[in-house]
Amino acid sequence: MAGRIMDGKKVGAEIRAEVTEGVDTLKRAGLRVPGLAAVLVGENPASKIYVASKVKACGEAGIYSEKVQMGKDSTTEEILGVVTGLNRRDEIDGILVQLPLPDGVNEGSVLEAIDPSKDVDGFHPISVGRMVLNRPAFVPCTPAGIMELLRRYDVELKGKRVVIVGRSNIVGKPLFFLLLREHATVTVCHSRTQDLPAVCREADILVAAVGRPGMIDENYIKPGAVVVDVGINRLTEEADVRRFFGADEKRLEVFARRGSTLVGDVHPLAVRKLASLYTPVPGGVGPLTIAMLLSNTLTSAQSALGAG
Ligand code: NDP
Repeated sequence: MAGRIMDGKKVGAEIRAEVTEGVDTLKRAGLRVPGLAAVLVGENPASKIYVASKVKACGEAGIYSEKVQMGKDSTTEEILGVVTGLNRRDEIDGILVQLPLPDGVNEGSVLEAIDPSKDVDGFHPISVGRMVLNRPAFVPCTPAGIMELLRRYDVELKGKRVVIVGRSNIVGKPLFFLLLREHATVTVCHSRTQDLPAVCREADILVAAVGRPGMIDENYIKPGAVVVDVGINRLTEEADVRRFFGADEKRLEVFARRGSTLVGDVHPLAVRKLASLYTPVPGGVGPLTIAMLLSNTLTSAQSALGAG
């Protein structure tokens, strides 16, 4: 029997509707709307698309937003200057610096310059420390979205064996602490893990955040497991599309029309066959990331306005 899908588009839309309602409540109380500033340095095409979709989503939720575009040759000092200016502005509740920053820019010092009370991406060491200590904190949006998805699909975490493949600061590592807080038994794997398929096959809940198209195939998935696929990989060869999606007419049609299509880190045919519940790509974890950014921005505004 084919597994059930966790519909990130639907859950993302629910969260966005809740944020819109929260913004309306502020307005009804005669308070200002939340504000988000997105700093984009250089011309990375993917980053441009991400920032544009964040700005658009803010507009739809009634959140004020502004994009600060900086040249690709901007220095660390110039970026620090922009961040410091945004820290001082009362109407800006959230500041995000779109990563990656160009080579030569000191990413750590830029992220540390963001006022922790406006750190809606949750990358500041103070936010990370608070999260680890289970204190109120901004949590990075992708792991926060995964937790929300699991919660809204009633996935039991207590006592369950969770395996995360990937230990990045933005996904794998923070997710480890969030799952631990919910009493899961969590293993984090990476490129040096020995016999990765065997470790993954022990998972009741398997999370893939690797960045390798379709790597997690039937050898990695325990039958009946819940599988969360964070990966976003673009396929540009028809042979790869056929390898991952078989004779899926819809995918082949998308590929023929656009010249590319997306696949996660999990093999789509394997997961459909083996998992009890899983996230598709696209339409799984992706839509949650922006929804949680809006949610964090609203939380920041509510706390700044004493309306929490
Ligand atoms: P990183 O490149 O920062 O980290 C990848 C991790 O995977 C590393 O820990 C690396 O190990 C591990 N890894 C790489 N190859 C292997 C392998 N063969 N076996 C086991 N582990 C391996 O990636 P991110 O966490 O930033 O992103 C992961 C994926 O998620 C990407 O596809 C990205 O596009 C996507 N993503 C999606 C988001 C969304 O909104 N849906 C948001 C963020 C990311 P090591 O540490 O040893 O190098």
